[in-house]
Amino acid sequence: MKVLVLNSGSSSIKFQLINVETELVLAKGLIERVGFEDSIFNYQAPPQPKSKQILPVKDYREGIDLITNALTDSERGVISDMAEIQAVGHRIVHGGEDFSDSVLITDEVIGVVERNIELAPLHNPPNLLGIKAAREVLPEVPMVGVFDTAFHQSIPEKAYVYPIPYSYYEEKRIRRFGFHGTSHHYVALKAAEYVKKPVEDLKIITLHLGNGCSITAIDRGKSVDTSLGYGTMCGMPMGTRAGDIDPAIVLYMMEKERMEPKEIQQLIYKESGMLGISGISSDMREVEDKAIAGHAKASLALDIYAHYAKKFIGAYAAVMGGVDIIVFTAGVGENSPIIRRMICENLEFLGAGIDAAANEIRGEFRDISSPETRVKTLVVPTNEELMIAKDTHRIVSELNGK
Ligand code: AMP
Repeated sequence: MKVLVLNSGSSSIKFQLINVETELVLAKGLIERVGFEDSIFNYQAPPQPKSKQILPVKDYREGIDLITNALTDSERGVISDMAEIQAVGHRIVHGGEDFSDSVLITDEVIGVVERNIELAPLHNPPNLLGIKAAREVLPEVPMVGVFDTAFHQSIPEKAYVYPIPYSYYEEKRIRRFGFHGTSHHYVALKAAEYVKKPVEDLKIITLHLGNGCSITAIDRGKSVDTSLGYGTMCGMPMGTRAGDIDPAIVLYMMEKERMEPKEIQQLIYKESGMLGISGISSDMREVEDKAIAGHAKASLALDIYAHYAKKFIGAYAAVMGGVDIIVFTAGVGENSPIIRRMICENLEFLGAGIDAAANEIRGEFRDISSPETRVKTLVVPTNEELMIAKDTHRIVSELNGK
């Protein structure tokens, strides 16, 4: 089955056409600056070289037209007819409490995603625009929504209800939702495949360390706790986001510094994390380079990052009563031997530890555990698009089987 995977952002559309059986990406690309006169269309059908066009893309409808025209183009296309696109998988950020799995998109589902806009005001609206545009261009093609939050719907009440008056949960739906679910789920399944055991027999801690970071405890295939919560600001310190801080600090900013909510938001979302501590950059590569060159605050930023990650590993091992596999994924997790080494130092008490030579890799699947450890530590490149394509295939096949 050929599945078109779409990720519609606030002014961008990312896409991949994937053959699910072979797991091959037939074509992929990105439209940036949707809604502008000088939108940028990046396209690649491997092994052909990448191409880049500047042209006006008025809205999501024009964007999807551009993508399907490129895919069927006689020169750079990879399919001869739009009918070869057998399904479309859409990444949707917030499914609220309504979706614990991917779902066939119907008018009713669109209504529920619209209702969840208040939970993800920046993300769900463009996701919906992408869905509506794709339905116009490909009206006969079944479409599936794959939610970032769905995998975490298995988290038990004791881990998702915040200890504030219960009415906030009952009336305002303020609870832990968690994000990056598609990535955590994908790498956990890959890890189970590697150790040749059913995921239902394993306790796995997955560290998705990218621009955004989250760590998840996966007990027998189910997410049982995760470090992101109601929003995307808690847990790990990130590139520019603070992560877990004492709410008293926010009160201090409000009362003593008379800061407005917008200013506090800017400070803790955009000016904190690695950037805030190091004063250098939000990009881990730059912070690492400066730390190696002897910059004290860059070193401190790395220390804090590793310290937080280690605390989550300890906490989640305790929550699950042990751990069998620790997985590193996403930009930093896949590419930074330094961060992996710092996080895994002194984990011998858990039965975990990494091999220094094996750890010297970037961006590839590798078992980096030291030979004498019981716990496997793996680097697993994430692939959310493939997971979306596979889920889309599963849901559409179930539908066809009925
Ligand atoms: P992601 O959000 O998963 O695309 O991750 C992006 C982040 O990964 C970047 O901001 C960098 O901080 C980090 N990153 C990418 N490559 C490296 C590398 N070679 N070493 C350390 N960090 C990296």
